[in-house]
Amino acid sequence: MEVSDKPSAVGGPVVPRNGERRGLSPREIRITGGYWADVKTLNREAIIAHCDEWMERIGWTSNFDRIAAGDGTHAGIEFVDSEVYKLLEAMAWQLGSAPDAAMESRYLQLVGRVAAAQDEDGYLDTSFGHAGQRARYTDFEWGHELYCFGHLIQAAVARLRTGHDDLLPNVARKLVAHLWREFGPNGRQAVCGHPEVEMALVEFGRATANDDAVELARLFVERRGHGLLSPVRFGAEYFQDDVPVRSAEVLRGHAVRAYYLASGAIDVAVETNDTDLLAAVERQIETTVSRRTYLTGGVGAHHLDEAFGADYELPPDRAYAETCAAVASVMANWRLLLTGATGADDRIERVLLNNVLASPRQDGRAFFYTNTLHQRTRGIQPDDHTVIERAETSLRAPWFTVSCCPTNIARTLASAELYFATATSDGIDLHQYGQYEIDTTVASQRVRIDVSGDYPFEGAVRITFATAVGDDFRLGLRVPDWAEVGTIVRRGAETAAPSGRTELFGPFAEGETIELRLPMDARIVHPHPRIDAIRGQIAVERGPLVLALESTELPPDLEVDDVEVDPEIGLRTEGDGAQLLLRSRSPKPQSPSWPYGSAEPAAPGRQFVARLYPYSRWGNRGPSSMRIWIPAAP
Ligand SMILES: [Zn+2]
Repeated sequence: MEVSDKPSAVGGPVVPRNGERRGLSPREIRITGGYWADVKTLNREAIIAHCDEWMERIGWTSNFDRIAAGDGTHAGIEFVDSEVYKLLEAMAWQLGSAPDAAMESRYLQLVGRVAAAQDEDGYLDTSFGHAGQRARYTDFEWGHELYCFGHLIQAAVARLRTGHDDLLPNVARKLVAHLWREFGPNGRQAVCGHPEVEMALVEFGRATANDDAVELARLFVERRGHGLLSPVRFGAEYFQDDVPVRSAEVLRGHAVRAYYLASGAIDVAVETNDTDLLAAVERQIETTVSRRTYLTGGVGAHHLDEAFGADYELPPDRAYAETCAAVASVMANWRLLLTGATGADDRIERVLLNNVLASPRQDGRAFFYTNTLHQRTRGIQPDDHTVIERAETSLRAPWFTVSCCPTNIARTLASAELYFATATSDGIDLHQYGQYEIDTTVASQRVRIDVSGDYPFEGAVRITFATAVGDDFRLGLRVPDWAEVGTIVRRGAETAAPSGRTELFGPFAEGETIELRLPMDARIVHPHPRIDAIRGQIAVERGPLVLALESTELPPDLEVDDVEVDPEIGLRTEGDGAQLLLRSRSPKPQSPSWPYGSAEPAAPGRQFVARLYPYSRWGNRGPSSMRIWIPAAP
């Protein structure tokens, strides 16, 4: 019962009804080559297929078939429905960017199975409310019903935004009507233990002009922080129920929950013109970025509750930095970016390239759930055919008991290019670089731009106009924060451009090329003095990429903890990484007897040069030790 395309609904992730910047739809931006083409191919051919195969194999997908058949038997933990929905969202975005008959057919088959499990009144959950199961809405703390609904709704929004108003959007319509009756102004005063439904409802309200959906999201945001959830062992802050959203000073508690809630709160604030709420959440994120975020952009310093630590509590060897928290921070920062906020695109770049893309193995069939910055000992290689607990191994694993990360990567990479550029009433802003083309309309004139260069490995970004545009056209470029200063070359003239946004004005002739040159020499990074866990250590970056030292690059008798940076600090750019002069601690520090106070400092050992390369690639050659922050010799 497909209806013709509804252009008003077409777009990318997050389409505010009012806002400074407009994201592009899959029809307006397309990856043409380079690094991101490889990433997109990996996602299409391996990651999406892998998620689909695993969920079919272990019965998470057939949970829907059993409910449809009146059988309440359930495979997996309570919220595995959400993984099927994130897979559907990934497929929807992927299909929006490149038609694929086989994937389309599989997508429609999966949606049909999901739809068959929907109850008459719109409720749809394979863990609650059916024969032999717990009753609906009896466990808001851990049941994740609204969280799962949020993912279903987001998958439906992806389908609408890619030009199809068909079965899944209709399932979502029935579900949202049920939620309005159940939790609306006259309904239950409740919130879900895991935020997610808030941003989904706002997005659904935008895509279908449903004001009730936006109002329900607003109610959920405002209700949180008033103790509606029963206490859990991690405290009310775990699910951000300790302080009302607009009164909080920083993100805290479970990191994924915190960033999903921030995303929903930004959506509500933008859609209801609540400038106080928007300012409050923006402040919270700024503080979180400056005090509670790893060099890779990762967040979450506590394993036990997957939560933020205190300010500057950022131990590299105990970094949790869950892949989903990285995805969640991209979502929140993208929302800020659309409001016109500065710096959000720098953060998106750092976390995408150095945390999200560190998770998948190079063959796309195993994933880091947590993304440590320091692996002290060589881990144990998980079996490629066994489900493991979330963070029990130090190497990438194929699937998890809580398998939120692989499907989150799939949907993020399927829509990645939609975070690259925005349009305004007078021009185009480029936020991320790579090889892609834009074909859109600005102020009634068609604009085609081709972006090329070997970014993120090379610093020359070329922007070529395939259509001529007039003198009222504005081209906005991001000069990355890591670059400090870039060079713009236009019609042979070179201009220095400090980090931040640089604007160029038309006219631009057809075929005219602007070049942005960024410095790509490897550079030393020093830690914030308050982060005790890495004091006296340095890291190396090249361009937007954080580099790492892996034991595979060391003499065979050494692990990464046996070396330090030589005081001569010889650093040379090499390939897409760097060479760094190190020295062993020789002899290896003897284990001084506890309590250590009388230990002699280790004598300087032999010098050697080791190769550092992008952190996102570590752990692809079997068990190894690895560190980003390396001790600097005193
Ligand atoms: Zn996860």
